[in-house]
Parts: sequence; structure tokens; C-alpha cells
Amino acid sequence: MRIAVVGTGYVGLVAGTCFAESGNTVTCIDIDERKIARLKEGILPIYEPGLEELLKRNVADGRLHFTTQYADCIGDAQVVFIAVGTPPGEDGSADLQYVVAAAEEVARNMQAYTVIVDKSTVPVGTAEKVRAAVAANTECEFDVVSNPEFLKEGAAIDDFLKPDRVVIGSATKRAAETMDELYAPFVRTGNPIIHMDVPSAELTKYAANAMLATRISFMNEIANICMKVGANVDHVRKGIGSDSRIGSKFLFAGLGYGGSCFPKDVKAVVRTAEDSGYEFRILKAVEAVNETQKRLLFDMVTDHYEGDLSGKTFAVWGLSFKPNTDDMREAPAIVVIKHLLDAGAKVVAFDPEAMEECKEWHLADSITYANNPMEALDDADALILVTEWNEFRRPDFDDVKKRMNGTVIFDGRNIYSRKTLENLGFTYYGIGS
Ligand code: NAD
Repeated sequence: MRIAVVGTGYVGLVAGTCFAESGNTVTCIDIDERKIARLKEGILPIYEPGLEELLKRNVADGRLHFTTQYADCIGDAQVVFIAVGTPPGEDGSADLQYVVAAAEEVARNMQAYTVIVDKSTVPVGTAEKVRAAVAANTECEFDVVSNPEFLKEGAAIDDFLKPDRVVIGSATKRAAETMDELYAPFVRTGNPIIHMDVPSAELTKYAANAMLATRISFMNEIANICMKVGANVDHVRKGIGSDSRIGSKFLFAGLGYGGSCFPKDVKAVVRTAEDSGYEFRILKAVEAVNETQKRLLFDMVTDHYEGDLSGKTFAVWGLSFKPNTDDMREAPAIVVIKHLLDAGAKVVAFDPEAMEECKEWHLADSITYANNPMEALDDADALILVTEWNEFRRPDFDDVKKRMNGTVIFDGRNIYSRKTLENLGFTYYGIGS
């Protein structure tokens, strides 16, 4: 098939590359000229394991193209995916201006029947808005399909090529069959393509993210009780995760959820509910718990130093909102570091992939960036582990101790053993024990 993907962010670039990998001819379009110019040179705008190799192979094989011009790729595309951003507006609802602008531009360039797919995470009713925007700008026949994306940054290629399920909301058989044909190569092992009406598909994505965010906030509250009653959240996690009704994934206590999806999607569901006259009480609490949790480590640090952080130096390991991505949108690291700086402390940080992103978009030169994890420790009063990249899991703690000025470790992801560290002479703080 000939496909166009509008938006070359985490979702659009991965989707476009994977559709090319399965034999389609794909053009990815973005209004960001710098991004497209760099992609044409083979330079990726994001870090995503496995993406670079796959992208380069498909470009070399002539199946994957990049452009800034809708006219280059919409006319002969059978399916057009809209994968642009849907950031939260001021009231928490998803800002649909990019989706609608993309839909209008697609419509102006269509030349025949086209399946237009909402890949972005969008509230119920968006497909109708897209339909209206397209209809106002074309005489061609078209269908609008909702096909939410469930990939996880850091494992996006695998998630896309081998999805747990594909959700398709469509109103016509013609569009549904086109989508089945397109996704057939990805579901050969039997994982389902689940067809449903459009509003249900739109809501499914939000419900999934809201449920996952709820698990995180729930476990963080369990962790907070554990600290008060002398229990250990890791034991509780194993104890409940072995129950098949609960399952073991997404039960880790930590510094709260971040990233470009959970925070905005939880907000959007709360807003959607409000718009329909319903108060989503659980999700409001999920959000409130998360906000407190992002501060927790900083509060532990402040308590340890009895409120005086001026002149102290902190090594921070991990900036991205989770491992294996350079994405720092809504990352807990930003909250922790800003509090430290406001309190007069100095921060020396290291992250395997997110330092450029951090410097360009988030913390600029307000902190020092180390060349490697060990360098960040030199003369630090304490180490704060924020993101659990694999390379932080087993440092040489004798070397850690030699380099640091102090002996305190704040472990925001519970990746170290309290017993081991205390035996080595460190003071250890974890979440929930
Ligand atoms: P992103 O911000 O990384 O990328 C969006 C891209 O769209 C940008 O490159 C931007 O320049 C481009 N764009 C904006 N307007 C455009 C237009 N009119 N024409 C062409 N390009 C345009 O976003 P993302 O993280 O890939 O997310 C995209 C959507 O997918 C969001 O709705 C998000 O909620 C959803 N989603 C994201 C993830 C994730 O892990 N990032 C997972 C599932 C779903």
C-alpha cells in the first residue's frame, strides 16, 4: 500500500518506519523543516532503540521517504495517518489544533478515496471533528478511522511490530478491511485486531493510560504507607503481583509517572468526564498523588540535611522520564532538580541519552552535565537516582564512595539493596521501605 504519516514524532516515525518494514511505501511528513532535513540525512530526532537501523534500511530500500510538502505524498496515498501532538490545553483538555490543521491540509491534497486514520491520542468526538474538517476541504470520498497507538517509548519498535492488540474504530466495512490488510503482517502470531465503533476506540486509549497511571499512583500510596508502618513495598509488590487477577507489571513504586502521555491523558479523561457532567473522582486523586510523589525525594533530601541545602552538590543519575528514551517531557527529574536548585544546591547530572534534550529544552545550563555516571559523583554530597537505566544498576560502590564527598544515596526507583549499601557504609533512602 501507499501510506502517508503526518507527524514524525515518537509515534509517527515509528509507525511510518514499521509500515515500510512490512512492505508498504511510506512517506512521513512534518512541518518541522529542520527535522525533515535531518531525517533525509539519516539523523534521527529521537532516541529509540532499534529505530535508526530499521529506518536507514527502509530508506535505502526506497520504501521510506520524508517531506515537508503535503502535495508530495497525499494524492496517491491510500491511507493517511495523523500522528501529530495533542498536548493539554489550559483547561486540561487535549488541544486538537494540530490534528485539525493536519486534517485540513490532507483534505486539500487528496485526489481519490482515502482512509484517514487518527493515530494521535484524541478525545471522543475527534473523528467527527476530523470528518468535518476534511469534508469542508475536499470533494473526494473518504473515511475517518480511529486507530489509537499503544507503543511504549523505549520498546516502541517491538510494540509496533508485535502489538498485544490493534484497536480499530471504523464506521464502514471498506475502511475496516483496508486497516485489516495493513495490519495483517503484525498480527500473524494471533494477537487480535479488535474492531469497534469510533467513540469506543477513542476512549480505549485513554482508559488504558488512565488505568496504568492509577496503578502507579496506587502503588506509590502503598509505598508511602509502608514507610510509616515499617513494611517494605517491594515485598508487598511481589505478594500481590503473583495474583493472576492483578499481574506483576506496573507495580513499582517510585517518583511518580511522567512522560508525554500519562499526565496529559489523565487530565484529558478528567476533562472529558467533566464536559459530560461527570466527576471522575479516582483520576483526580491519581493526579494529586502523582504531584506529591514527584516531590517526595526532594522532601527526603531536605529532611536529611535538616532544611539546609545551600552549597551542597548532588549527583543526579537519570534525566529522561523512564529508561531507554531521551524524552524528558514531564520527567520527575525536572521537578527534583528544580527544587534542589531553588534550595541553593548544585546539581551535576548524567543521563545516557537525554542530556542534549535536557540542555536544549528543559534545564539549559542551570546544571552541570557529566561525561559519565562516575564523573557526576566527584565531590558530590549525595547521589540521587532518578531514572533506572541499566547502566546505573550495578556501579562499583567502592569507587562511588571514593569519589563522593558524602555517603548518602537517595534511590528514587528502589534499584539498590538497602542492606548492601548500609553494609558498605552508605546512608540509604528508598521509596516505600
Ligand atoms: P511528538 O511531539 O513527538 O511529534 C509530533 C510531530 O507532529 C512533531 O514532529 C510536529 O512537528 C508534527 N506536527 C505538528 N503539526 C503538524 C502538521 N500540521 N503537519 C505535519 N506535522 C505536524 O508527538 P508523539 O509523542 O509522537 O505523539 C503523537 C501523538 O501520539 C499524541 O497524541 C500522543 O498522545 C500519541 N501517543 C504518543 C505515544 C508516545 O509514547 N510518545 C504513545 C502512544 C500515543
